[in-house]
Amino acid sequence: MSGFRVASVGRVGEDRRFNPNPVMMDEVKMALELYNDGTHHCLLFQNLVTGEAVQANQVIILDQGQAALLDPGGEMTFGPLRRALSAYLEPEGLDYVLASHQDPDIISSLDLWLTETSCKIVIPAVWERFIPHFTHAGRLEDRVISVPDQGLILSLGDGELSLLPAHFLHAEGNFSFYDPTSRILFSGDIGANFPHSVLPQPVSTLAEILPVMAPFHHRYMASGKVCRYWAEMVRELEVETLVPQHGRYLQGRQVVDEFLDWLAGLECGIDLVGPNLYRLPRLEA
Ligand code: FE
Repeated sequence: MSGFRVASVGRVGEDRRFNPNPVMMDEVKMALELYNDGTHHCLLFQNLVTGEAVQANQVIILDQGQAALLDPGGEMTFGPLRRALSAYLEPEGLDYVLASHQDPDIISSLDLWLTETSCKIVIPAVWERFIPHFTHAGRLEDRVISVPDQGLILSLGDGELSLLPAHFLHAEGNFSFYDPTSRILFSGDIGANFPHSVLPQPVSTLAEILPVMAPFHHRYMASGKVCRYWAEMVRELEVETLVPQHGRYLQGRQVVDEFLDWLAGLECGIDLVGPNLYRLPRLEA
């Protein structure tokens, strides 16, 4: 048998780095298959982080023997995510770890991915000199692809990923990841929502998540101006599915358009703050 199996369906082209007979571990069974055309695969993990830490989604994209991991998270996620990945490829087979920005729930596991795999770390140029604090001296040498403010197109197997500027949404240097093969936009913190349950069910109307999405955007997104810029850029793409880094994902052009309309009209961040927030504190610990 050649190739390997993904989430128990489909088979990908031959590559010596990939396991011919992957073991279906619990983590792999937990993956949600967002897309599979037999050669290109997108897998979503929504339940690897539990307990006091905020829920976070992780994504693996595989194409013709190449693999990219998006926003892998922190140390608590590393073990189960690595085990899931090893069902498909040898640790050496991971090509890229993409970090949309520098936050702990995005890339604080950096040191572990650097030491356990031979991946390249793809990170906004703005954060390149800060992330060495997550690892040890010299370990990042020749391992970083620094993404300029204008974004990049990264090839993956026979496909590619577009790294779209998403600065100040919320981080000062920040990218969303668009996969033109699956027409999925991995939007990072944009669209993040925090429901109490029913994570795997996609959202088909915005009203389903608005109460658990709006407060986060009001505080964490920098301003309405950058929300509008991002929404207008995304309207140029064919987006069928929008997968944020937290919470439920949006499926279908209708709800994606509904979300972009909402975002483009949003007031948030510095639009909403006034001098009240900048008073000397009176509370005691
Ligand atoms: Fe963040």
